[in-house]
Amino acid sequence: MLDTFGREVRMLRLAVTEACDLRCEYCMPQNGLPNEAMPMSGNELVAIAEAASKCGINKIRLTGGEPLLRPDIVDICRRLSHIEGIRTLCLTTNGTRLQALAGQLYAAGVKRVNLSLDSLNPERYARLTRCGNLADVLAGLEAAMAAGFERVKVNCVLIGGINDDEIADFVELTRHKPLEVRFIELMPMGECAAWPKKRFISAETVLERCPELTPIPGEGVAQRCRLPNAVGTVGLIRPMSRAFCGDCDRIRVTADGKLKPCLHSVEELDLRGLRGQALVRRMAEGIGDKPVSHHLNDTGTDTERRMSQIGG
Ligand code: SAM
Ligand code: SF4
Repeated sequence: MLDTFGREVRMLRLAVTEACDLRCEYCMPQNGLPNEAMPMSGNELVAIAEAASKCGINKIRLTGGEPLLRPDIVDICRRLSHIEGIRTLCLTTNGTRLQALAGQLYAAGVKRVNLSLDSLNPERYARLTRCGNLADVLAGLEAAMAAGFERVKVNCVLIGGINDDEIADFVELTRHKPLEVRFIELMPMGECAAWPKKRFISAETVLERCPELTPIPGEGVAQRCRLPNAVGTVGLIRPMSRAFCGDCDRIRVTADGKLKPCLHSVEELDLRGLRGQALVRRMAEGIGDKPVSHHLNDTGTDTERRMSQIGG
């Protein structure tokens, strides 16, 4: 379905919980969210995905919070992957439980996995996540690569003065591993909204630090490149330095069932309690309502929600 600016909306990012077992400094308060919303049930998620497919959406990415904390996550994936019209089911995870679940998720129809990882140094990783164990996540990454997924990506949020000295190490991962490392520009919202300017660095830094990276032509929100003869690729996601709103093909649904036409807008349409045609109509309304762009660089984000509630 086309939005009012002629963009074809094809993707739904569906948050399945606000809960998380990590406390990444830029995303979560130290003690977690003060009032975690009651997540949607499996049946509610399936109804939303069915309505989305009737609006022309063919790709769903499950996110959160941490989606793998849900005890019914494998069952949810199995049900969503069988919905007519949903061609690609993907998942974004912090990876802490991926070693145990990768095979089951693949068997349940998940095609692609993105794993978030902001440091390859165990002490720094523990500090940044306030409790994470790097070894668990690296084991999860290996399990994902062995499970058979069509694509595995590592998402690394660039934080100036904190992890930018690891850019070359992350890029090096792509030399021999069949994965894409994606560097994401930190967006000032929630926990990091008031962080000093020096923390917000442009993804251009990656190209400056690794001049041997050469561009690969392609579409989508990421600018992609590769090391000479490397097996994997590098992606740059630049919401701050190169807004990609003109190519935006997605809507989001929060863990408490609010459709967000744009990550940064205040507009939310409540989907909870709706079924059948009423749900399809509300979803179509949300797609039509997508704003032309965010204005992060001028007035900042408009949403009061945290990333862990929206799902990134
Ligand atoms: N817990 C899962 C994970 O970490 O992959 C899924 C949810 S998390 C909110 C989704 C993505 O949003 C992660 O890759 C995280 O690094 C990213 N993220 C969170 N806050 C961000 C911010 N302020 N700017 C840019 N990316 C952010
Ligand atoms: Fe949890 Fe993901 Fe936020 Fe980290 S980025 S605190 S793993 S929701």
